[in-house]
Amino acid sequence: ASGYCLLRDPRHNKGLAFTEKERDAHYLRGLLPPAVISQQLQEKKLMNSIRQYEVPLQKYVAMMELERNERLFYKLLIDNVEELLPVVYTPTVGEACQKYGSIFRRPQGLYISLKEKGKILEVLKNWPERSIQVIVVTDGERILGLGDLGCQGMGIPVGKLALYTALGGIRPSACLPITVDVGTNNEQLLKDEFYIGLRQRRATGQEYAELLDEFMSAVKQNYGEKVLIQFEDFANHNAFELLAKYGTTHLVFNDDIQGTASVVLAGVVAALKLIGGTLAEHRFLFLGAGEAGTGIAELIALEISKQTKAPVEETRKKICLVDSKGLIVSSRKDSLQHFKKPWAHEHEPVNNLLDAVKVIKPTILIGSSGVGRTFTKEVIEAMASFNEKPLILALSNPTSQSECTAEEAYTWSKGRAIFASGSPFDPFEYNGKVFVPGQANNAYIFPGFGLGLVISGAIRVHDDMLLAASEALAKQVTEENFEKGLIYPPFSNIRKISANIAANVAAKAYELGVATRLPRPQNLVKCAESCMYTPVYRNYR
Ligand code: NAP
Ligand code: MN
Repeated sequence: ASGYCLLRDPRHNKGLAFTEKERDAHYLRGLLPPAVISQQLQEKKLMNSIRQYEVPLQKYVAMMELERNERLFYKLLIDNVEELLPVVYTPTVGEACQKYGSIFRRPQGLYISLKEKGKILEVLKNWPERSIQVIVVTDGERILGLGDLGCQGMGIPVGKLALYTALGGIRPSACLPITVDVGTNNEQLLKDEFYIGLRQRRATGQEYAELLDEFMSAVKQNYGEKVLIQFEDFANHNAFELLAKYGTTHLVFNDDIQGTASVVLAGVVAALKLIGGTLAEHRFLFLGAGEAGTGIAELIALEISKQTKAPVEETRKKICLVDSKGLIVSSRKDSLQHFKKPWAHEHEPVNNLLDAVKVIKPTILIGSSGVGRTFTKEVIEAMASFNEKPLILALSNPTSQSECTAEEAYTWSKGRAIFASGSPFDPFEYNGKVFVPGQANNAYIFPGFGLGLVISGAIRVHDDMLLAASEALAKQVTEENFEKGLIYPPFSNIRKISANIAANVAAKAYELGVATRLPRPQNLVKCAESCMYTPVYRNYR
């Protein structure tokens, strides 16, 4: 290939890092200025310029411009993960999606709309890569906490897959972001002359189901049984159904339901070191009974059931949920959405969180409502009145929607709460002690989980694999982390954490007989590590 093509190919381009010899051998003379610099120096230069931007979206755009040099993009992301995660993913990615219409430059993923009905297999064949291991797909209906962004939701699959590569070591060429566009109910987008999606209201019912069904069949036909399809940011009225429908025929995973559940269970299990007791000895109260809330609740109930050998119907009784109408109780059963029904326990109606806290006296309080400021002073004080160390998880994103801030949790509990949140909070000093709030970020789990599926050649996801992922993550929290009040390990070690999660997930896949890569590698941690993509430049002869 000519040197000019080499520079234009993101997978091979090294910019000024091409050596003298490479410049001679590959017709690059004159196409580059004379200086030869190392990848390290390129990284330093780019980080300097990214740090100079004050507006997060500018940082995002600067990162996306690195599309021209794929390895440099991933080198930056891996080496500066704590700093760049909030840029390529939440919260900045949300803003990018809102403005996606105007910054759309070239395809970063596949758009499959109602116009492509009947031709989805052909559309998949238009994608240049043949061998795909992970697909992240959204229909854009519930993007982060931002709601329906229609076709502009594409930023989410793109961002998630960047993390699959950076944190989980999945090859970039094996990742495929997809947006299924069935329209949008976002009036503002429908009126926007620059909107990039289908200008119609969302298809629902049979029309929706048929498009999704054609999509799922086409994916399996084109890429085989081992491709992981991650559903991302679907609204809850579709998410649970899609997961149940395709869970028995495809390798599917819903990060909003299952990934969240796994990361939160890991945090709770780790927190037991600080608050004491076994999982079964605790009482759980949730504010919010949607994808996140009921997903987490179900996985906790399952883990307690494994530990105590009690049926899950029994262990669910240790967990209560409050939704927008109050405590979920049996008298409401007939009017509940199906995913809430298992949580309708025999109990008097209670119509607000504070009263529910007072009567149920939970030891662990979890916020998954999407509504900020709902863990009030009274709620936290009540938790602290009957718990030595209340565990408070305020999961709602973005920061403005967090059920309470770190400062509030520590101050109102007089420094006794163990706190973690969905959005990051800075360390907080109370009475001379510095508390470091943990972040229950899904990025702890899904990249390693996906890697575990890939290295074992798994063809189905089983709940036990989610438990295996939680267990591996909880084990990575060190004494030193606990001393600061942390219930999650720092992100700086994330590739090692992902390899451990992958190994535990893969081991479970073999145990369950859903792994197809045979024989089973002896040392799964080593296997995971050696499979991971690294972004160091290759030498061209
Ligand atoms: P969802 O499916 O829409 O569920 C939201 C739930 O909250 C529903 O049960 C809703 O009640 C309830 N709710 C809404 N307003 C309420 C109020 N004022 N009082 C009590 N309950 C209320 O959303 P989701 O996917 O579960 O996400 C919820 C939140 O969790 C989002 O902010 C998201 O960012 C966050 N989240 C965090 C993580 C993480 O930290 N790793 C992961 C996933 C999600 P009704 O059912 O009655 O409408
Ligand atoms: Mn999501």
